[in-house]
Amino acid sequence: MANTEKVKEVILAIAEVIAEKKLYLTQLDAAIGDGDHGLNMNKGFQAAKEKLETAAFETPADILKAVGMALISKVGGAAGPLYGTAFLNASKIVAGKTELDLNDFKDMLEAALEGVKSRGKAVVGEKTMVDAIEPALEALKKAVAEGASTREAMDLAVKAAEEGVAYTKTIIAKKGRASYLGERSIGHEDPGAMSSYVILKTIAEKF
Ligand code: ADP
Ligand code: MG
Repeated sequence: MANTEKVKEVILAIAEVIAEKKLYLTQLDAAIGDGDHGLNMNKGFQAAKEKLETAAFETPADILKAVGMALISKVGGAAGPLYGTAFLNASKIVAGKTELDLNDFKDMLEAALEGVKSRGKAVVGEKTMVDAIEPALEALKKAVAEGASTREAMDLAVKAAEEGVAYTKTIIAKKGRASYLGERSIGHEDPGAMSSYVILKTIAEKF
């Protein structure tokens, strides 16, 4: 179960891990994009962190909304608005709730993915963050349907996201800057899929 304080903790943990991985994510993007993914993500999550540390929030949804707005307004580049939309959609689906459980998280991830897909028009297999998020959601749904514990379900979702990242290494980019490389994008992991995995892993560890 996650209350407002817990959700704040999770976001601060994401900001910390993104700061740690800034260089790594940027290196992944340098190989098939323009080398700014880590910088973009760090800028967005540092802005989110600042908001969370300087204002009071009543519900988890209020926090997620603030994060979404920070990502949309502070991050140039494709990923900022996509992640921003993901957080805003996740916020809307749990509006008014004071405690979030595993089922809420499943709904949030579903709403987040819908946001990314409707804004970015990517589907699985195009070497984007969708390749990490969608398998994670599918694994989570299956685990919830089978009555798995929160821990088991979260672990399965993270594992699916990790496999999704590995899959991006084998395919051609069809969306975003990496698509300009065509076949030369094969052999590299997608930076946005990697950041999605990192974020999901952090949520799973804290939830
Ligand atoms: P930019 O490409 O503008 O430099 P970033 O480097 O921050 O932005 O983010 C790149 C990542 O954004 C990619 O690795 C990919 O995962 C994701 N991305 C780009 N375009 C799309 C899209 N249309 N749908 C989903 N994800 C996308
Ligand atoms: Mg980039």
